[in-house]
Amino acid sequence: MNQILRKGWCPTLERPMETGDGLLVRLHIRYGIVSAANALVIADCSTRYGNGLIDLTSRGNLQFRGVKHKEYEALFTELTQHGFTQEPRPERSLYPDYLPSLGYLPVDVDRGTIGLGLAFGRLDAAMLKWLAEVAQHYGTGALCLSPWRAVYITQVKKAEALRVIETAKDKGFITDSHDSLRMIQTCSGAPACSSALGPTRELAFALARTLPDLLDAKHTIHVSGCAKGCACPQKSSAVIVAQPEGYDIAWNETASASPDHIALSAENILNTVRSAL
Ligand code: SF4
Repeated sequence: MNQILRKGWCPTLERPMETGDGLLVRLHIRYGIVSAANALVIADCSTRYGNGLIDLTSRGNLQFRGVKHKEYEALFTELTQHGFTQEPRPERSLYPDYLPSLGYLPVDVDRGTIGLGLAFGRLDAAMLKWLAEVAQHYGTGALCLSPWRAVYITQVKKAEALRVIETAKDKGFITDSHDSLRMIQTCSGAPACSSALGPTRELAFALARTLPDLLDAKHTIHVSGCAKGCACPQKSSAVIVAQPEGYDIAWNETASASPDHIALSAENILNTVRSAL
C-alpha cells in the first residue's frame, strides 16, 4: 500500500492523508482543467470509495474525503486506470483584491461563460456530476477550476446559460459575485479534521448570514479549526481560530498570530465581528 501521511504534509493521489473522517486523497489537476468525463469518474468514485464529499482547494485541486483504509487501494487502481497520475503541485494563488465574477459572463452576443461558486470550496458528488453534464451538453466538455472556489464552463449559448444558472442556485451553487459566502474562508474543522479544536463551517455560515452587508473583498473573514490556517495563508480582516475553550479572534492577521480576543463563544464572535468590521 502507498504511504499514508499522518499530519503536516500535503496529501496526493499516491500519499493519502489520515483525517478525522477517513483518508483524504488529493488530485492535482493540471492547469485547473478537468474533462467532463474525468469529473464524472471523480463524482462516481467519491460515492463508492469516500463519503461523497469533494473539496475544490485553494490551489485549484480536487480532493476526496472519507475514503476508507480498506478501499484506498481499489480507488487508487481505478483512478490510475482512468489516466489520473501524480501531477506536480500547483502554486497557491494569493487571495486577490477582487474576486473573479460569477453568473453569466458574456464573451460575444450569444455565447459566454458560466461561473459558479462553491461555499468554502465544498461540493458533493451530485453537484459535480451535474456540472460535468452541463459542460458536456452545453459547453466545451471541460470544467475550469478556479482556486477562488469557483467552476467555470465556457462557450455556452446565452439562453441556455441563463437557464443553467437558475438551476445552479437551487442546487446550492453561488451565482452572485457579491455573495458574502465568498468573503469567508474556512477549513473542514471538527470533526472532519483530526487536528481541529472545534467546528468551523457552522460558524462560517452563521457569519455569512449575519454580516452580508459588511463583507467584501477588502473585509474578509477566516474561520480556522486550528492555528495552522490551511484555508487561507494570508491575513484576513478577522481571523477566528477554534480553541478548546471557544474561539480566539485576531484582526488583520493570519491564523497563527497572537489573538486580540480569547475564548469567545460562537454568539459572542458574531457580535464582536459585527461591531469591529
Ligand atoms: S487548519 Fe483546519 S484543516 Fe488545517 S489542520 Fe487545522 S483544523 Fe485541520
